[in-house]
Amino acid sequence: MAAAESDREVPSALCTEFLNFSVKDTASKWLQVTDLYKEVYHHLARYVPKIYCLGPNLNPQSEDLLAQMLLQAPLEWYLCGEDPSTGLAKLEQNNQPSQLCGHVFKVGEPTYSCRECAADPTCVLCMQCFLGSVHKEHRYRMTTSGGGGFCDCGDTEAWKKGPYCQKHEPNISDSCQEDPLAHLSTDMIARCYNVFSVVLKYAVDMLTWDKEDELPLGLEPPDRSDTYYCMLFNDEVHTYEQVIYTLQKAVNCTQKEAVSFATTVDRDGRKSVRFGDFAFCELAKSVIVRNTSRQSKPLRVQVMHSSVVAHQCFALKALHWLGHVIGYSDALRRILCQVGLERGPEGENSSLVDTLMLCDSKMWKGARNVYHQLFMSSLLMDLKYKKLFAIQFAKNYERLQSDYVKDDHDREFSVTDLSVQMFTVPSLARMLITEENLMTTIIRTFVDHLRHRDLQGRFQFERYTAQQAFKFRRVQSLIGDLKYVLISRPTEWSDQLREKFLEGLDTFLELLKCMQGMDPVVRQVGQHIEMEPEWEAAFTLQMKLTHIISMIQEWCATDERVLIEAYKKCLTALTHCHSGFADGEQPITLSMCGHSVDTIRYCVSQEKVSIHLPVSRLLAGLHVLLSKMEVAYRFPEQLPLSELSPPMLIEHPLRCLVLCAQVHTGMWRRNGFSLVNQIYYYHNVKCRVEMFDKDLIMLQAGASMMDPNHFLMIVLSRFELYHIFSSADCRKRYNRENANKDVVQQNNTLTEEMLHLIMMVVGERFEAGIGQVEGCDEIKREILHQLCIRPMAHSELVKALPENENKETGMERVIDCVASFKKPGVTGRGLYELRPECAKQFNLYFHHYSRADQSKAEEAQRKLKRQNGEDTALPPPVLPPFCPLFASLVNILQCDVLLGMLGAVLQWAVEPSAGHWSESMLQRVLHLIGMALLEEQQQLENSSEDNDVYFNFTLKMSRPGEAPSNTASVLALLENLQNAPHLEVHEGMIRWLLKTVAGIKMMRERSASTSTVTTSGSRGQEETACDKDKEERKRKAEMARLRREKVMAQMSEMQRHFINENKELFQQSLEELDASTSTSLEHSPVSSDAALACVGPRRSRPREKRQVVTCILCQEEQEIRADGKAMVLAAFVQRSTVMSKNRTRPPHDPKHYDPLFMHPDLSFGTHTGSCGHIMHSHCWQRYFEAVQAKEQRRQQRLRVHTSYDVGNGEFLCPLCECLSNTVIPLLPRTMGSSSCEQPGLGQWLKTSGQQIKAMHSAHRKLQPVSTVEETVEEECPAPEVFTVDYIPTNPYSSTIKEMLATFGTATYKVGLKVHPNEQDPRIPIMCWSSCAYTIQSIERLLVDEKKPLFGSLPCRQDDCLSSLARFGSACWTAACQPTVQGHFIRLLAALIPDPQVEASPCILDVDMLHLLVSVVLSYGSVHSQDSSGLSVDAVQLHLFHLITVAHMVQILLTSGPEEVTMEQESGEAERGEEEGACRLYNTLRTHVGSSLPEVGSGWHLWRCVKTGILPYLRGAALFFHHLHGVPAPPELHALCPGQWEVLCGYLSLPSNLLQLFHGQQELLEPLLHGWCTHPGIQQTLQGGGVLVSFPRESNSLVDLPDDYSALINQASSFTCPKSGGDKSRAPTLCLVCGSMLCSQSYCCQTELEGEDVGACTAHTFACGAGVGIFLRVRESQVLFLAGKTKGCFYAPPYLDDYGETDQGLRRGNPLHLCHERYRKIQKLWRQHNITEEIGHAQEANQTLVGIDWQHL
Ligand SMILES: [Zn+2]
Ligand SMILES: [Zn+2]
Ligand SMILES: [Zn+2]
Ligand SMILES: [Zn+2]
Ligand SMILES: [Zn+2]
Ligand SMILES: [Zn+2]
Ligand SMILES: [Zn+2]
Repeated sequence: MAAAESDREVPSALCTEFLNFSVKDTASKWLQVTDLYKEVYHHLARYVPKIYCLGPNLNPQSEDLLAQMLLQAPLEWYLCGEDPSTGLAKLEQNNQPSQLCGHVFKVGEPTYSCRECAADPTCVLCMQCFLGSVHKEHRYRMTTSGGGGFCDCGDTEAWKKGPYCQKHEPNISDSCQEDPLAHLSTDMIARCYNVFSVVLKYAVDMLTWDKEDELPLGLEPPDRSDTYYCMLFNDEVHTYEQVIYTLQKAVNCTQKEAVSFATTVDRDGRKSVRFGDFAFCELAKSVIVRNTSRQSKPLRVQVMHSSVVAHQCFALKALHWLGHVIGYSDALRRILCQVGLERGPEGENSSLVDTLMLCDSKMWKGARNVYHQLFMSSLLMDLKYKKLFAIQFAKNYERLQSDYVKDDHDREFSVTDLSVQMFTVPSLARMLITEENLMTTIIRTFVDHLRHRDLQGRFQFERYTAQQAFKFRRVQSLIGDLKYVLISRPTEWSDQLREKFLEGLDTFLELLKCMQGMDPVVRQVGQHIEMEPEWEAAFTLQMKLTHIISMIQEWCATDERVLIEAYKKCLTALTHCHSGFADGEQPITLSMCGHSVDTIRYCVSQEKVSIHLPVSRLLAGLHVLLSKMEVAYRFPEQLPLSELSPPMLIEHPLRCLVLCAQVHTGMWRRNGFSLVNQIYYYHNVKCRVEMFDKDLIMLQAGASMMDPNHFLMIVLSRFELYHIFSSADCRKRYNRENANKDVVQQNNTLTEEMLHLIMMVVGERFEAGIGQVEGCDEIKREILHQLCIRPMAHSELVKALPENENKETGMERVIDCVASFKKPGVTGRGLYELRPECAKQFNLYFHHYSRADQSKAEEAQRKLKRQNGEDTALPPPVLPPFCPLFASLVNILQCDVLLGMLGAVLQWAVEPSAGHWSESMLQRVLHLIGMALLEEQQQLENSSEDNDVYFNFTLKMSRPGEAPSNTASVLALLENLQNAPHLEVHEGMIRWLLKTVAGIKMMRERSASTSTVTTSGSRGQEETACDKDKEERKRKAEMARLRREKVMAQMSEMQRHFINENKELFQQSLEELDASTSTSLEHSPVSSDAALACVGPRRSRPREKRQVVTCILCQEEQEIRADGKAMVLAAFVQRSTVMSKNRTRPPHDPKHYDPLFMHPDLSFGTHTGSCGHIMHSHCWQRYFEAVQAKEQRRQQRLRVHTSYDVGNGEFLCPLCECLSNTVIPLLPRTMGSSSCEQPGLGQWLKTSGQQIKAMHSAHRKLQPVSTVEETVEEECPAPEVFTVDYIPTNPYSSTIKEMLATFGTATYKVGLKVHPNEQDPRIPIMCWSSCAYTIQSIERLLVDEKKPLFGSLPCRQDDCLSSLARFGSACWTAACQPTVQGHFIRLLAALIPDPQVEASPCILDVDMLHLLVSVVLSYGSVHSQDSSGLSVDAVQLHLFHLITVAHMVQILLTSGPEEVTMEQESGEAERGEEEGACRLYNTLRTHVGSSLPEVGSGWHLWRCVKTGILPYLRGAALFFHHLHGVPAPPELHALCPGQWEVLCGYLSLPSNLLQLFHGQQELLEPLLHGWCTHPGIQQTLQGGGVLVSFPRESNSLVDLPDDYSALINQASSFTCPKSGGDKSRAPTLCLVCGSMLCSQSYCCQTELEGEDVGACTAHTFACGAGVGIFLRVRESQVLFLAGKTKGCFYAPPYLDDYGETDQGLRRGNPLHLCHERYRKIQKLWRQHNITEEIGHAQEANQTLVGIDWQHL
C-alpha cells in the first residue's frame, strides 16, 4: 500500500518546532541529567506521536526521515559524545571484527553444507564463503534457505575441517581472546551502556504492551486526540479468501485494497484497516468479528489509540537502530548483550531479553521478526553472551515451548526456532545437558504435552480431535530440539555428563514405556471393522523418534560405563512393562522330537497384539553393542545377564512377527487398511531400523541363549503350526487334513513365513556385533540386493537405504565396490549396475526384500545366470561367522526339531496331493538345507583339523527320521526328489545340494592337507547354454514380430470400427474411386541435363505426374486433382515469436492491425506445422464431428477436461495423436504455360503500370459513389488484352473450395486472435504470411542444425510446405477478387511508387521474403484477367529480381560500420562483386546523405550483401521449389562448397547479384531514388525505429549458468515487482527473454482478456505469443505453457553428478547444466513443438489437465 502517502502535509506549527530542533543541544542536555530514562522518555512522549501515525497509512518514508532527525540523531550524538558522523566512523575504524561470517539468509538464498566436514546438516555456508572454502571440492549439499539462520563460516565447532573461508581466515597476529571493550574509553562505555539500556527498555516496554488505549508511565502524550486504528492481526486459521471477503464487507474497500491488506497482514502480522475516531473503528471491528466467528474463532482485531501504535512503530525502528549501531563495533555489540541479559529488579528471568522471549507468542509477526533478527546479530554473534543466552533460553525452555504449542504461528516466527543456533553447537549442548539438565527438560516437556493415555498409562491417539492433532504436530518440534542436542556424540565423558545423560535416558525410557504396547489390535472375525482406527499418530511418533533412539545407542556406544548402566535401566524398564507377563495365560508344555519346553498358551490370532515395542527394541540394540564393544566378555560380572529370561525377551517381538505373517496370509483382512499400513511401515526403510530389524535381533539374542529345539517349538506354537508338525505322523498330513481348503492354504503360507523367519534368525549376520563384519559390510549388502532387482539411479538407491540423522546413507563410501556407474543419454538418468562378481553374494531370502522385490530379484538373477550359461539354481551365499555372543545360533540348523520339520516338508513333496504343501515351502526348505551345508563346509575349511568341527549336518541329515518309525532320512528324500518330474524347477537346486553333500563328505574323509573341493557348476553345460541363448534370441525375435502384428491388427481394427460407424460414406467413396485406381504411378526421372531452375520462364518443368495418396481413415487411395475430392493434411497453426528480433513490441490490436507487410523484426508470426497425415476432407469432417459429440457428452457427464480444446477447433490426429487445429487441402502443382517471347523488365513495368491503373479505376467503380471523392484523373483505358471485369472460372471442386475456406479462416483466426469471419479481406494475407513465416523458420532450423537446404527435412515438413505454398497460390479463388488485387497493388507499391496508394511503408520496414511470397501468390488474381500470353513465370522472375535488389539495398543501408579487420586479399572472381557493391553503396549515399557512413572497403560491403541475403535466397529457393515442384540440384542436398553459385543458378540469378542492378540501372535508378527518399529511411537510420540488420541471427534460449546455485542466488535477490521489495515465493525465469517473474502468487496476478492470470501466463502473451518456456528456480523444473489452459512440467537441463535431475530440489546434490538437454529444449522451441509436447504430456498424464495453469 503506497497510496495516500504524500497527501498528508506536516502541519506548519510542527514544522517550525522541527526546524528549531537542535540535535546537539538535546544530546548535551541529556549528557548532564542524572535520570536519563525520564529525560528520553519525556522526549519520546513528546515527539513520537507527532511523527508517527497521523493518518490512515502506518509507515510512510517521511516518518522515517523525521524519526531519524528528531529521535535517532540525538541518541547517536549522546552515544558518541560528538557528531555521530565522525564518532561512528572512529568506532568502525577501531573495530576488530570477529571471524564469524554471520550472514543472515534471505528466503530462497542458496546455502551449502559439506557432507564430509559439517558437524551436522544444520551447519551451512553462504555462497560467498562456500566459494572461498575448501568444501567446494568436497561432496557438498546445496539447499535453499527458508529464511532466518546464518552462515556458520568461522565457527570452529561447526566444521570438522576447514572452518574458515579465505575471507574469514583469522590473522595469526590477532589474539581472538581479547576483550572487545579494551579499545573503548570508560566514558564511552558508560554512555553506551546508558543509551542502550534506555532504548532497549523502551522497545521492550512498547512491544510487550497490551493495553489498547493507554501508554506506559512517562510516555503519556501531552495532548490526546480522538484518533484510532482498527488493527487486524494475522492468524493461521483463516484463509486469504476469507480475510479478503470479510474486509470488503467490513471496511468497504475494493477487492484490490482487500488483497493488499491481506497480503500485509500475512507478511507483517498486523495491519490497520481503518483510521478514524473510536466509534468508527469499533464498528469495523464488530463487523469483522461477526463475519469470521461463524466457522471458527474470529479474526483478532483491536481498536488501538494512535499514540500506542505510534510508539510501537518507533519501538521497531529503535530495535532496527540498535542492530544498525552495533554493526559498527563488536564492543557496542557486547555492551548491548550485557544490557539485554542484565537481571532486572524482579530477580531471575527478568532481564529484558527474558521479557521479550516470554512475551514472544503474544507479539505480532513483524515485531517478532525484528527482535529475533536483533538477537541473531547480537547475542548469537558474541561467543561469550551466546553461552549466557543459551542458559537463559534453556531455563525458560519449558515455558517457551508451551507458549509455542498454544500459539498458532509457524515455528519460523517463534523464538523457539532459535534453538537450532545453540543446541547444535556441541560444546553448548554438552554444557546445557550437564548444567541445565536440558535433555531431561526437553523430554519431560514433550511427554507433558502428550496427555492422551489409556488405563495402563500408554499413549492413546484413538479419538483425538483435529485440534489435538494440530497440537501434536507442534509438539513434534521438541523432538527436533532433542535431535540437535544429541547430534554430536561426546568424545570425552565427565562424571556429570554421565549422570545427566543417564537421567535423561530414564526420562526417555518413561516415554518409551508409554509407547510399549500402544495401539494394540485384535483380530476381527466375522464382520469387517466398522471404522478404521487411528494409527498414523503413533507411527509419526515412532518415525520421529527413530533417529533419537539410534543416537542414544550411539552415545552409549562411546562409553562402557554408560552402556552398562543404560543396559540395566532398559532391562528394568522392560521387566516393568512385562510384569504380569504370564498372568492369566495358561502354562503349557510342548514336546517334539524327544524335546520338551514349558511356555504359555497364547494365540496372536485371538488376543491383543501391538506393533509398538520400543523398549524391547532399545534393549536389542544395546545387546548388540555389548557384543560389538566386547563389554559382554570383559565385564560379564557387571551385567545382569542372569536376570535375562530369554522366553520373555522373544515373546513380544515374536508375536509382532507372527502378526505380520498372519496379515500376509490374509487372516486379518477384516481389520482393514490401517493394519496393512502399519505392517507396511513396520518394514519400511523409514522405520525398520528401530522396528523390524530390532525385533529380529531380539529373536536372535533370545534364541542364542536358548536350546534351539525349545526356541523352534515356541516359534511353531506362536505361528499356530505346532499341531501340524508335532503330531506323530505329521509326514502323512495330506491323508488327514483335507477338511478346509482355506485353512490348508493359510497354514501353507504360515509355514512358508515361519521357514523364512528361521532363515533370517540364522542367516542375518551383517550387523557388526552379531556377525564378524566391518561397519560398511551391511550397507554394501543392502545396495547389492537392491541392484540384484535391477540397475538403479542414485536417488532410487538413496530412497531404498535408511538415512541416519545427518541424512546420510553412507552409500558413497562403498558403492564403487559393488556397482559400476552408467552415464545417461539425452533422456533418462544415470544408473548403477551390479558388478558381475558380486552376484554370488545374492541371497534370495534377504530380510529386507518385500515379496514383490523377492520375485523380481529371483527372475532377474535367474535370467542373468541363464545368459551366462550357468545353472539357474540360486543357492544361499556364504555367510560371515557369528560373534561369540550369538555363535550358538548356528545350532538351530542342525537341531532335531528343524530336521523333523525339513523331513516332513520333503516327504509331503515326494507324494504330492491336493495342495497340502507349496513350491515355495519346498524352495525354503532346500534353501535352509543349503545354508546348513554351507555352514558345515565353511567350518571345515576354516578349521585346522576336522575333528574340532562340531557342526555336522551331513551326519544328521543321513539319519532316518524318528517318527513314526524308520522313515526316510532327509538325504534320502532329497535323492528321491531329484528326478521327480513335478519338481523340475527345483532340480538345479537339489543337484547343487547333493553335490555339496558329496563335497563335504569327501572333505571329511580326506585328511586336512588335501585341497578343498570346489563346488561350482561344471563347465560341461556351457555348450547347451550357448544353444539356449540362441534359442532365446530366436524366441524374442518371434515375440517382437508377433507384437508388431498385434499392433497392426489393433490399428486396422480401429479403422474398421471407424468405417463401420460411417458405412454409407465409405460405400460411396469406394464406388467413386473404382474407375481411377488402376493406373499405376509413374516416377519421373529427376531432371534432364540442363541446369535446374525453379523460377522464371526457363524454369524446369518436371514431367506430369499423378499424385496419389492414401487416406489414413478409410485407407482409400485418392489422386490429387483440382476437380477431385479434397484431401487434407492435419495441421496445427499457432502464433509465434520464435524468430522475433524485438520482444518489446506490444501485441497488435487484432481488430485494426493490417498484416500486409511484415516488419523485418518478425516480432509476431504465424507458424503452420503438420504431422503429415492425409485424410479425405469428408473423412476428417466425420471424425471431427464424432470427437465434438463425444466431448460434449463427456463434459456433461464428468466435467473432465481434455488436452485439446474442441471448442477451439482442436483435435488429435487420428493416427499419431498429434495436436492439430485445422487441415490444409492438398492441391495439384500449377502448370505454367511454356513460354513464348516474354517482355523484358522495362516492358513489363509499363504493362503492369497500365494494368494497375485499370484495376484502380475498376475498383473505384465498384465502390459506392458517395464515399469516393471525385478524382480528376482521366479514365484509364485498360490494355485490350486485360479484361478487368472478366471473372475466371474456378478450377476447384466444391470440397476443395470448402477446405480452402476452412484453412484460410483457421489461419486468420489463430494468427490474429479473432473470431472467424470468412469475409475478412485479411484472410489471404494471413495465409501468405504464414507460408513465408513457416519457410523462414524452417530455413533457420536447417542452418542451426547444420543440415543441407534440401533433402534433410522429414516428409511431413516437405508435404506441409508444398501444401502451404500451393494453397497460398490458390487461396485468392476463395476470396473476393478485387480485394486480392488490391492487396497486390499495395504490395507492389512498396517497390514501384504508385501515386494512388497512400502510406506505402519504407523498405526498411518490410521483410522481403514475406513480400516476395505475398506478391507472387497474390499475382494469380491479376494474371487471371490477362489474356496477352504473358507468362506467370516471367512476371514471377521480374518480381523476384526486383525484390532481391530491394533487399540488397536494405542490407547495404543497415550494414553498419566497417569492422576493423585486416584487408582481405580477394580473388579475381570477387573483384567484380566488390566494385559493384561499392558503386551501389555510393549511389545510395548520394540519395540518403550523411546518415550513411562512408565505407572504403568493397570487400566488406560485398561480404555484408552475400551473408545478409543468403537466408532470403535460401527461403526463396524453398518457396519456389515447393510451389512449382522443381527438383533441387544435387549440390544443395549436401553441405558442400560452391553452394552460392548453385543456389543462384537454381533461382535464375547471376552469381554476381549486383548485375541485377547494374544491368538495369536506368530502369532501377528511379525506383532506388524513391526508396531512399522515403521519410522513414532517415527516421529509422537516425535511431527513430527498430533497425534490423541482416542476416538475422537465430534466436536462442537465454544462456544459463553452469552451476545451478548461481541461478538460485540470482533468484533469491529477486523481489516481487508489485509488492514493494517483498521476496517472491516462486521466482520463475523466462528462458526466451531472461525476465524473472513472480509466479504463482496473488500479488502479481493481472487481468488478461477478462480473467485473472498469473505472472507467467501474462508474460507469455507478450513474450511468446501465448507460448512460454520457464524455469521455476526454486523447484528446478521447466514449465511449458500454451495459452491459458495448457501446460506441463518438463525435466530441467540441470543434472547432478549421478546423471539425475532434482525436481523440487529435495536431494540437494550440486547441479550442473547439461548442454545437450538444454539444446533439446531449445530445439523443441525452435521447431514450434512446445504446444505439441504439452499435448503429449497431458495425454500421458491426465492429472496435468486439471491444473490451473493460468495461475502460474
Ligand atoms: Zn558466510
Ligand atoms: Zn566466510
Ligand atoms: Zn568439506
Ligand atoms: Zn478417407
Ligand atoms: Zn498425424
Ligand atoms: Zn520472456
Ligand atoms: Zn509478486
